[in-house]
Amino acid sequence: MDDLVRELSPQARVLDLGAGGGSFNYSSTAGQVVAVDLSFPAQPQPCLGRLIADSGALPLASASFDVVVCNHTLEHFESLNEAVGEINRVMRPGAFLWAAVPDGFSFDDRLYRWVFRGGGHVNQFSLRSFIQALEDGTQLQARRCKKLHTGFIYLKPPPPERLQHYPRRARPLGWIPPRLLEAFVRVLHYAVRRLDGWFQRSWSLYGWGVVFERVEAQEGLQPSSISQLEWIPPDINVCFSCGAGHPAASLIPRLDRFLLWKVYRCSCGKRNFFFADQ
Ligand SMILES: [Zn+2]
Repeated sequence: MDDLVRELSPQARVLDLGAGGGSFNYSSTAGQVVAVDLSFPAQPQPCLGRLIADSGALPLASASFDVVVCNHTLEHFESLNEAVGEINRVMRPGAFLWAAVPDGFSFDDRLYRWVFRGGGHVNQFSLRSFIQALEDGTQLQARRCKKLHTGFIYLKPPPPERLQHYPRRARPLGWIPPRLLEAFVRVLHYAVRRLDGWFQRSWSLYGWGVVFERVEAQEGLQPSSISQLEWIPPDINVCFSCGAGHPAASLIPRLDRFLLWKVYRCSCGKRNFFFADQ
């Protein structure tokens, strides 16, 4: 996703849909960012404008954005078809959409939905059904795809003001001593990656980030084939505390040792086990 926004000109416009406080680092782009959500936290990142609006009826001009970012949001949209229609409408021909969603059938998403009793995930995608949902009736064409791995950061101890909104099943996350919970998440984080390596499984998979291009005309468009997508190498090293993904090559110069293991310190300060690319 960083590649899509990093090279933009100062005139380019980026829509962060379901932005919250900002779903990516706005200072990483020279483009003008417009953030849309149903509500915003107390201190969101500064940007060109913030709009409180429903994703199914965006108060934005047609063909006015060069990049749209939907970072972990489309699984939450109840009116998905309307939202996709609006995304397609506000994108210029040649514009790109980055959409990251969970694999609705993965261990990670099942665990999240079990702990949080659904957790607001109303759309359960496979990669095929996700691409189909975005391409149906639009001028969007899937171009590139990246597998995203989990950091299990939803198992972190919540701040007290959020704990009261957690379902009963998730409340122990606020009661377990934080160091004990952190140790458990570290072990889980390590174990799923080891098991994936040994048994060629995908227990550490979170989902996918897919880049769609908004093409000029709808006529003659064929559904994209998964096998013909350009696959971007995944970052298996995802911080268990902040969720930042790190290319393995970028970590090699700053690796440390902890007993038998190679570890790295994330920019958030937490030490993580290191995994070479599989
Ligand atoms: Zn981190």
